[in-house]
Amino acid sequence: MTHLITGGGGFIGSHLADHLLADTDNDVLLLDDFSTGAETNIEHLRDHSRVEVLRADVRDRNAVFDAVGRADLVYHLAAAVGVQRIVENPLASLQTNLEGTENVLEAAAEDGTPTFLASSSEVYGKSENVPFSETDDVVYGRTTAPRWGYATAKATDEFLALAYHDERDLPVVVGRYFNIVGPRQTGQYGMVIPTFVDQALAGEDLTVYGDGTQTRSFTHVADAVEITHELLETESAHGEVFNVGAPNPTSINELAERVIDLTDSGSEITHISFEEAYDEDFEEPDQREPDVTKLRETLGWAPEPDLDRILSDVIEERTDREVPAR
Ligand code: UDP
Repeated sequence: MTHLITGGGGFIGSHLADHLLADTDNDVLLLDDFSTGAETNIEHLRDHSRVEVLRADVRDRNAVFDAVGRADLVYHLAAAVGVQRIVENPLASLQTNLEGTENVLEAAAEDGTPTFLASSSEVYGKSENVPFSETDDVVYGRTTAPRWGYATAKATDEFLALAYHDERDLPVVVGRYFNIVGPRQTGQYGMVIPTFVDQALAGEDLTVYGDGTQTRSFTHVADAVEITHELLETESAHGEVFNVGAPNPTSINELAERVIDLTDSGSEITHISFEEAYDEDFEEPDQREPDVTKLRETLGWAPEPDLDRILSDVIEERTDREVPAR
């Protein structure tokens, strides 16, 4: 079985590759332009006999059609991600997330190749209706705040996927990832856990944005990739949207304190405003928690909340390597 992972050089994509390769019947094609995915994520797979790396941008229609044409299953993970990156490069982010997805879905529809579309809890926007259920309404802010462009692009990707399912019989499943974290995630684009861990290990202040009462439900990448694979292989999941996350809303203040405890760091916590951290047009979701009833009913399980496991895995990884300058 040949699996194509777009964004295969990325944080989640590289873990998905490891997961699939554990089964010796699987071959893996990794398509990535390495704009945000790091070569180091797949260094260990470079000489693997069942891995091929295709260096291409998902906006390159020919490259996508060639790659999808060789695959039995497709995981479309390539996207411009990270709030900081989206706020700083809205145009490229929108184009990658819209054109890239359309290319992948159109190519997959040619042969009816089952496809997983990676979506995001950002799709819920600033809904306050926690926990978020897949059938909930979404709530976005003004179009002058780039963050909602990302949410809207991901929502449009979902509409496209469902339309390909309904009109072109494409077996496609949508997974909304909730703050997936773990080893190999970079802090470069503002992700909070690698940022806090690096700050704590360096003895610097941990920078909490806003008053720190906002919550996120952090989910271990190992759980996320297992669910991704299972959802794609579950026929009853096709044509459906699923929350992929562990329901453990944690405030950013609590998170910062836990990171300091687990690293035994002498760091302090400082609060900085969202305006200072991003820009004045910035808005962010306050509370975020997945309802995983549908996931549990479909797969028989859902990720268990385990913030300490996530943090200790990230701390272990980042303690063992040189912390890059930010
Ligand atoms: N955050 C923070 N300090 C940082 C980076 C992020 O306090 O150095 C906050 C951010 O404002 C948000 C939460 O941590 O409330 C999660 O941020 P991240 O960018 O990791 O994910 P997302 O905002 O997409 O949920």
